[in-house]
Parts: sequence; structure tokens; C-alpha cells
Amino acid sequence: MLFFLEIAYLVLGLKQCESTELHVKAKQQSIIHNLSVVQAHLKGIEDAPAHIERIVNCLKLGDDDQSVAEFNHEVESMCEEVVTPKLIKVEISPKKQECPILPPIDHKRFIYTLVLDLDETLVHFEAAERRFRIRPGCFDFLKKLSHPYFEIIVFTAASQDYADFILNVLDKDHRCIMHRLYRQHTLVTEDGIYLKDLSRLGRDLAKTIIVDNIAENFERQEENGIEIKTWTGEPMDKELETLSVFLRGLVEAGVRDVRPYVRLFKQDQWRGAIPQATSTKKEQKQQSPRTEAKGSNSNQNAGNQAAKLLR
Ligand SMILES: [Mg+2]
Repeated sequence: MLFFLEIAYLVLGLKQCESTELHVKAKQQSIIHNLSVVQAHLKGIEDAPAHIERIVNCLKLGDDDQSVAEFNHEVESMCEEVVTPKLIKVEISPKKQECPILPPIDHKRFIYTLVLDLDETLVHFEAAERRFRIRPGCFDFLKKLSHPYFEIIVFTAASQDYADFILNVLDKDHRCIMHRLYRQHTLVTEDGIYLKDLSRLGRDLAKTIIVDNIAENFERQEENGIEIKTWTGEPMDKELETLSVFLRGLVEAGVRDVRPYVRLFKQDQWRGAIPQATSTKKEQKQQSPRTEAKGSNSNQNAGNQAAKLLR
């Protein structure tokens, strides 16, 4: 077992960053502890070598939040399987939480970020039929709101395999959805809620909106969140269509902060607050939202008009 550890240490290496060192130390201590627990129960566990290998493999991962989340996910699944639940997870230090889990936004392409939930927001999985249904308007929604409007991120509390299976259907060419975040990127509360903490994404919260059918999931940034009606297969559902009009209106107006408008949307008072787009589709294509927000007088005026109406 020590041989495994020694190899793993060599593979991992130690980084110089203070927060990383703390993280490495916490992770190594957890791994040593977890190995000792598995060892203590070696005789009672049929596939103990496999568990040891999984624990050690976690050392080979990096020490960013995602890797630690994967380590914790392994610990969780082992507790659920056969190992007595005495394994410990690595706590993510407050300092570590400041590290974004996404690469920086491509400022040449995007100003605004749209974070979308998956289940009961874009799709519904029929467990009995073992197939999923796609919410009416979903394809159109993704197509219309992706570049140049929003950097779209799907953030689901579902497992990665399941989510990728569905997202490869919704966006098979990877043209609409820029990033995918899964269960391992959420923060799990004691109540079992999978928190989607936008502050960990490394995005400007004044330019970020999250849409989810469960409000608790975005409770840390409630002012950025829109709770969409839970969809379980209703064929005449129009929620995405309505939402699309609102979201495109925000970008076309070049609003400095989306949050006051999100509040109005929740109160169903947004239609008068956001100026109607008067340009044709062709004109909109020629004039990207980035250009509008930077230089277009007409759209700056539209944004000012909207801001006035908000007061
Ligand atoms: Mg959901």
C-alpha cells in the first residue's frame, strides 16, 4: 500500500501556491486515512484492492476544486457501496473556493452568461420508459440564445454520464453550449440540496443569469436566478419561448446589470421595462451584442430608457 502512495506522490508533485499546498496536504491526509479504513476492513471487503486503486488514483488528479470534488464523489460512492462510512472528504477551504471552476469567459465573443439547469428545465426523463423528452422550444431556445447573445453553460446536479448523454443530443455539434457542469461542481448542503454557487464560476454576476426549476439550487445568488416552471412533459408548454424573448431583450438593450430586470421578470413586470427590439433579424446579425453594448447610441439609449423605467 505504501508503494502505491509513493508512486502517487511522485505523479502528483507539489505546487508552490500556499492554498494549493494546504489543499494537497488535506487531500493526502484524507487519502491516508481512507486507505487505513479500507485496510482495516480488508478481510470483509471482497474488492478491497479495487477500492484502494480508486483512492490512490484520486491522488493523481490535480488539486483544483473539480478534482477534489471528484475525489469526494469517489469517497461518497465507496461509502454507498461496501466500505463502512468512515471515509472522509477533503474540505474545500474558503481560499480555494475563490478559484474559478471555469476558464475565463471569451470576451471577444460574449458579455453575458446564461446558466441553465437540465432536468425539468430543458428535458424530462421518463424513468418507466427509460427515455427523455425535450421541452417544447428547447432547440430553438438554445440556438437563438447562444452566440452572439449568451455564453451558455449547462449546470446540472445530475451525474456526468447521464447529462452528457442528453446534452450530446441537445447540442450534438457543441455549438450552443460552451461549458458543462455536473453534480461534482455543486455544493451539497446538509439538507441534500445541490447548490449551484455562481460565485465559483469566475463570471461577472452583473452579467450572469441562472435558470432552474428549483429555486433552492441558486439560493446563494437569488437575485441572478429565475425559477422556471417544472416541466414534466406538457406538450403546449411556452416557458422557454417567453424566457427567450426576455433574455434577448436584455442583451439587445445592453443592460449593465441583469439583476434588476430579473427581479421584474419574476414580478411579471418586465415587458414595459425592456425596450422592444426594432431591428430586423438581418440587422441584429450584423450588429453583435458586444458592439451594441460598447458603442451603439440607440441601444445605449434603450438601456437608459429601461433603467429609467426600473426606478
Ligand atoms: Mg432541475
